[in-house]
Amino acid sequence: MHPLLSKKGFIIDIDGVIGRGESPIEDGILGVKKLREMNKKIIFVSNNSTRSRRIMMERFRKFGLDVNEDELLMATYATARFIASEKKNAKIFTTGEAGLIEELKLAGHEIVEYDKAEYLVVGSNRGVNFDLMTKALRACLSGMRYVATNPDRIFPAEDGPVPGTGMIIGALYWMTGREPDVVVGKPSKVIMEQALEILNLDAEDVVVVGDQIDVDVKAGKAVGAETLLVLTGVTTKENLEKMVERFNLKPDYVLDSLAKLFD
Ligand SMILES: [Mg+2]
Repeated sequence: MHPLLSKKGFIIDIDGVIGRGESPIEDGILGVKKLREMNKKIIFVSNNSTRSRRIMMERFRKFGLDVNEDELLMATYATARFIASEKKNAKIFTTGEAGLIEELKLAGHEIVEYDKAEYLVVGSNRGVNFDLMTKALRACLSGMRYVATNPDRIFPAEDGPVPGTGMIIGALYWMTGREPDVVVGKPSKVIMEQALEILNLDAEDVVVVGDQIDVDVKAGKAVGAETLLVLTGVTTKENLEKMVERFNLKPDYVLDSLAKLFD
């Protein structure tokens, strides 16, 4: 038996582990099914800042995997929870899309114009334009608390790299010199501590699984959990050595896919 199978909980990344865009990664899904047979506690943690849990559940269903809302922790939901932990019913201006707005509202927050807001929440937006950036700029200049859903510079889409939330964080930084006061998504501890809290487990009882050394492995190490890098996404057999060198960080375990835990 693989030594990681003695752990009680698995914190599993979605993109590059379970699916690529709208296509499933069969060995990732098989791995999850086998972990469930062993009654492991599982939470899927993703830096996705455009999808709500509801939207993600539909995607999982298409992959042939039924998941509950409480098994999903995306940067959208994690950001809404984080702000609620600081301030209930906060007034928020966000650059984000409908999925982020849905989670912010579900957590009891109010979406307002930039000049009425207490929080600037930056999330990715595929319809970003001059008007939205003007509002975000003004919110940023006002000095209000600034929270970013995730620090992703680039997102690896099926047909090649596309801009991540970094396109807005970067533009605001270049215009104002300000960086986010809090970043919620991986490799930040904020989302990882929420995952542990939801699982009700300590870091030594969980494995953090992902496809990116600078995101998933770094996030696992940030909370002191063991890490498993799978080669079904951004990191591959071919670039593994280069990635380890580039980020100067070694995962505890490397496997071709999640299903290989059971070989
Ligand atoms: Mg990933």
